[in-house]
Amino acid sequence: MSLLDHLSAKLAAISAQSLTRKLRRADDGTAPRQTINGRPLLMFCSNDYLGLAAEPAIADAIAEGARRWGGGSGASPLVSGHSAAHEAVTDTLARWYAPHVPEARAIGFCTGYMANLAVVTALGDERTEIFSEQLNHASLIDAARLARAKVTRYPHADLASLRPLLAASTAKVKLIVTDAVFSMDGDLAPLPDLLKLADEFDAWLIVDDAHGFGVLGEKGRGSLEHFGLNSERLILVGTLGKAAGLSGAFVAAHATIVEYLLQAARNFIFSTASPPAIEHALLTSFELIEGPLGAARRANLVARQAQLRDGLLALIDHHPRLGWSLTDSATPIQPLIVGGNAEVMALAAALETAGLRVPGIRPPTVAHGTARLRITLCGTHTEADVDALLTALERAAAAQEQAA
Ligand SMILES: *Cc1c(COP(=O)(O)O)cnc(C)c1O
Repeated sequence: MSLLDHLSAKLAAISAQSLTRKLRRADDGTAPRQTINGRPLLMFCSNDYLGLAAEPAIADAIAEGARRWGGGSGASPLVSGHSAAHEAVTDTLARWYAPHVPEARAIGFCTGYMANLAVVTALGDERTEIFSEQLNHASLIDAARLARAKVTRYPHADLASLRPLLAASTAKVKLIVTDAVFSMDGDLAPLPDLLKLADEFDAWLIVDDAHGFGVLGEKGRGSLEHFGLNSERLILVGTLGKAAGLSGAFVAAHATIVEYLLQAARNFIFSTASPPAIEHALLTSFELIEGPLGAARRANLVARQAQLRDGLLALIDHHPRLGWSLTDSATPIQPLIVGGNAEVMALAAALETAGLRVPGIRPPTVAHGTARLRITLCGTHTEADVDALLTALERAAAAQEQAA
């Protein structure tokens, strides 16, 4: 069989399960409004949780950074790609996490995917056992596959199952690896209890805060601030392409861990450093996150979350036959679990007709039978925006119930 025939058969199988993914091209705009095919759409799908990507101060900072530093960094950090802007970013992050990790230091990466690969593969050597949460992000799963460590999965948020696994481990180093905010469900990992287990069994806790950074905590420093954690065992991965409104990622941890990543993480050593103009703009983003604008956006997010959840619960009550449900989420990720793949895509299409962009998420990203609308809120959504979504959903629900 030729490769093309082989792939065509696989593509046909994907399509038969209503699982074909399609790129949509935006012609302009950023969260929460984009133009697609000449139509302005109100978005509930971006991870730009504070709406910072659209802030004029960010665009100005990128331009200022580009005038000072030019375009790309030109080389990996250890060759010539490391600038004063890069260092100011990691210095700021080291200061942010000093209350949470003794002797905190930070190191930068181009993406969160890279940061996760770096930290899990560099620390997960032959003497290590990785305890990986069932709902971890794909990048953490791939990282665990690449690591030389033994990998043991534990069920979602189930510490009663994790405890005997830790107790039975004879590995020299134990790494518990978890998302802080689960990206498809929006719920929080029980980090304080995970840290207690780590203390009890001499394990280390890698926390991927992609969806907590900027959003959680009074100053927006994420889940460690939210839970008030402090421990040398905490190894934090944060991403800068979501609430920070730009791109990039970092690991913040004890200085010895960070120094080891700098010496040993292959994707830090062998990959071109991020553009210094982006790093320069990240400094502006950090000021916005911890300043009054960030605080106001976080307060608005909390209000919009409550409005949305109340509305969705009422909708589920009106249409019990559809069998829809919510997750236990107190974050801007508020999924509506619909069940079937075709149903969720029909729902997403109906919303788009009404001028709303909300993505349908299907297996394998989520478990079979739990296809969902992944509704995400942005700090710049208004009460009227959320009302528009609820009104359109009510109409679509009535139509699906009639068709069923
Ligand atoms: C988005 C995401 C990542 C990857 O970050 P990028 O910067 O987009 O590569 C990692 N972990 C989680 C939980 C994410 O949601």
